[in-house]
Amino acid sequence: MRFYNTLTRRKDEFVPIEKNKVKMYSCGPTVYNYFHIGNARPFIIFDTLRNYLEYRGYEVTFVQNFTDVDDKIINRANEEGISPLEVADKYIKEYFVDADGLGIRRASVHPRVTECIEDIIEFIEELIQKGHAYEIDGDVYYDTKSFDGYGKLSRQNMEELNAGARIDVDDRKKSPSDFALWKKKKEGEIGWISPWGEGRPGWHIECSVMSRKYLGDTIDIHSGGQDLIFPHHENEIAQSEGRSGKEFAHYWLHNGYININNQKMSKSLNNFFTVREISEVIDLEIVRFFLLSAQYRNPVNFSQDLLDAAKSGMERLYNTKHKVEFLLEQAQGMIKEDEKEFVSKLPSYRELFIEAMDDDLNTADGISAIFELSKFINTTVSEKSSKEYLQECMNIFCELTNVLNIIQKKKSDGFDEDKINELIEQRSLAKKEKNFAEADRIRGQLHDMGVEVLDTRQGTTWKKID
Ligand SMILES: [Zn+2]
Repeated sequence: MRFYNTLTRRKDEFVPIEKNKVKMYSCGPTVYNYFHIGNARPFIIFDTLRNYLEYRGYEVTFVQNFTDVDDKIINRANEEGISPLEVADKYIKEYFVDADGLGIRRASVHPRVTECIEDIIEFIEELIQKGHAYEIDGDVYYDTKSFDGYGKLSRQNMEELNAGARIDVDDRKKSPSDFALWKKKKEGEIGWISPWGEGRPGWHIECSVMSRKYLGDTIDIHSGGQDLIFPHHENEIAQSEGRSGKEFAHYWLHNGYININNQKMSKSLNNFFTVREISEVIDLEIVRFFLLSAQYRNPVNFSQDLLDAAKSGMERLYNTKHKVEFLLEQAQGMIKEDEKEFVSKLPSYRELFIEAMDDDLNTADGISAIFELSKFINTTVSEKSSKEYLQECMNIFCELTNVLNIIQKKKSDGFDEDKINELIEQRSLAKKEKNFAEADRIRGQLHDMGVEVLDTRQGTTWKKID
C-alpha cells in the first residue's frame, strides 16, 4: 500500500509504527455553522481511508477534533445572543446529522478544545521551558527560528517565510512567522486561567495536544485539506517535534480543492454551499459517491451535470444489486457446472479494487472496478442461476461497496414493503380475473407511491421511480 506523502513529495510504501495498527489524526471542523461542501471532501476521504485500512486488516484509532473556541464562534455567539459553548454544542450536533447523511462514521475520539485546556497549558509550558516559545504581556508565541525543521512540510525556508509573512506587524514578535500559542483575553471574550493570565489557546496548538493525548508522540497518518499544509500543519510539526524531539507523523495526506461550476469556492462568489443546503436538493449519498469518483488529490468540480452523471452511475449499481436480490428470493441449489468458470472469475474484481485502492487510495479506479464487477454480474446471472452463485455475487458486491460505504440503501428504504407487496398481489389477482381496469388502477396507485411495477418472467417485482 502506498500513499502520496506531502512531506517527502512522493508515494511512500505504508509501514505502520506498530504491526497491524494505525494511528490516524485528521483536522476537524470549527463548529460555528453547518459545514460546507469543501469540508465534506476531507471528511469523506479520510473516513474512506480508515474503512479501507480496516478492510486490509489494520486496527485503526482515528482522532478528529472539534474546534469549539475561535473568533468565528465568538462572533456567532454574539450574533445569536447565546454563549460560545452553546453555539459549539449546537453545531456539533448538526455536524453529526450531516456526517450521517454522507455516510461518515464517528471517529474513535472527537476531542473538543474546551475539554483539553489543561493539556494545552502544560504543552505550552513545556515549549517555553525548551526554548521554543516566549511570552509577551499575556500572549505566548512559538519561536519559529528555534525549530530547525520549520518549513519542511511546505518546503519553504525561513527567509522566504519571513519575507512572505503577512504584514501583521506585531513587532513584539521575534520573527514575522512566529505564531500565537496562547492569546490574552480581550474584553467580552471567553477565557481560562493560565500561568500567563486569562486567555485562550491559539488555533494550531490544539491538534498537537489532542494528537499526543490520544495517539502518543508519533502517529502514522496525519490528514486534512491542502489548504492546511501551511501554516496549520507546518505549525503542528513545529509544536509537536519541538516538544518531543521525535517525528510527529510519518505520512501527511492532503486532499485537493473543490470548485463549484468551475469556479473557486468563495463567499464573495456566493457559491459557498453548506452540506445542509445541498441535502435539501440532492440525496447526500450521491454527494459521497460523486466525491469518491475522483482520486482525492485531484481537484473536483461540483456541478449539476457531474452530479447527474454520478446519480445515474449509482443507479446502475443499485439495479445490479436489486436484480440479484430479486433473483435470490426464488433461486435454489448449489453452483452449477456452467457457473464454475464465473465463480472463479469473481475474485479478480476484488484484486482490481485492491490494486486501485492500494495505490494512494485511488477511489476513482476502485469504483471502476465495482462497475466492471457489476457488468460481469449482469451478464452472468439470470432466473436460471443457482442460489449459491447469486449469493457469491452478492457477497463480493457488498464487500467492495461497503468499503466505500456506497450503495447501502435497501430497495425498501422509505417504502412500506408490506403494503407494496399486498397491492402487487391484488393487481396480479385482478389481471388473472381479466379485470384490467382494476389492475391499471392499482398500478397507478403504486405509481403515486413512487413505485414502478415490473412484470418479468419470474413474476412481478418493483423498483423506485427515479
Ligand atoms: Zn489540525
